[in-house]
Amino acid sequence: MTCQYIGPQTKVCALFGHPVKHSFSPPMHNAAFKHLGLNFIYAAFDIAPENLEAAMDAVRILNLAGVNLTIPHKENVVKYLDSLHRSAELSGAVNTVTNNKGMLTGYNTDGPGFIRSLWQDCSMDTTGKVAMLVGAGGAARAVGMELALSGVSELGIFNRRAQRAISLAKSIEQSTGVKTTVLPWPKEKHPAEEKELSRFFKHANLVVNCTPMGMKDSSSHLPPLPYHLATPGQVAYDLVYNPRQTRFMEKFKQTDSIAVNGMGMLLYQGALAFELWTGEKAPVDVMSKALHKCLE
Ligand code: NAP
Repeated sequence: MTCQYIGPQTKVCALFGHPVKHSFSPPMHNAAFKHLGLNFIYAAFDIAPENLEAAMDAVRILNLAGVNLTIPHKENVVKYLDSLHRSAELSGAVNTVTNNKGMLTGYNTDGPGFIRSLWQDCSMDTTGKVAMLVGAGGAARAVGMELALSGVSELGIFNRRAQRAISLAKSIEQSTGVKTTVLPWPKEKHPAEEKELSRFFKHANLVVNCTPMGMKDSSSHLPPLPYHLATPGQVAYDLVYNPRQTRFMEKFKQTDSIAVNGMGMLLYQGALAFELWTGEKAPVDVMSKALHKCLE
């Protein structure tokens, strides 16, 4: 336990979300602080949306070292900050805040964490690759922007609500210049739409599930993709990590594609936040072990 370090000099980091009780971030960060002997502690606070402004004031008043934001605060927190790093500006969302003598700066480490995981877990260099995003919410925005910045040649966005996909495609193209195509979500048999979806799916090097479909409580849910067209060597990345083996991953594994869950993204977004707060290199092995223990 980190308790042995707690004293007047202890620096406090926190997670603000609603709810937070199932979060893996406290054990992950506390394991890392303990491993490096840093006098830091990380706690989780359930902050209702109407209390977010007061909570951000408290960050300054209590001189917290740093904060993570999770659902539903990632976008709303922007107005309570003093400045934004480019990662947050582009994604329109903040998952990490640093506090420099009361000056709060927002970052988004989700996108960079995803790219680092792609490299570490799938040995994938995204330069010149074609990527397809399933979903167009906050996580899809962070991942899509970062993929575009990391050199993909084309992006496809496949989302249940077309308007959201169109809006995300527009902002990625405007911010990065990367060609972005909105793919039709099959509502009923429509051969032309199915053909368009199949054509893109087949030539995508990377398919990323950025929806909660397949999460523990809805593990039978599956995005409606033409999985039989998956190709060996194609990388399927599921942002969901609980269960560890999702149905989305299983579908791709049937055709020898490389399929991974979102544990790596969770790990590396946390490692990047840790480095921003402490200035120390994050002990990723220790953090990874703590995360896996949470899943057992
Ligand atoms: P969000 O902003 O609420 O977006 C949810 C997206 O999923 C939307 O595109 C939504 O489509 C789609 N969706 C939700 N339920 C659906 C259903 N039943 N059928 C079809 N589409 C559905 O959420 P988010 O923040 O982007 O998070 C998305 C997922 O990524 C969550 O499971 C989250 O836990 C995970 N995540 C993981 C990490 C990690 O580190 N591994 C990091 C961030 C997020 P509509 O637009 O049509 O509603």
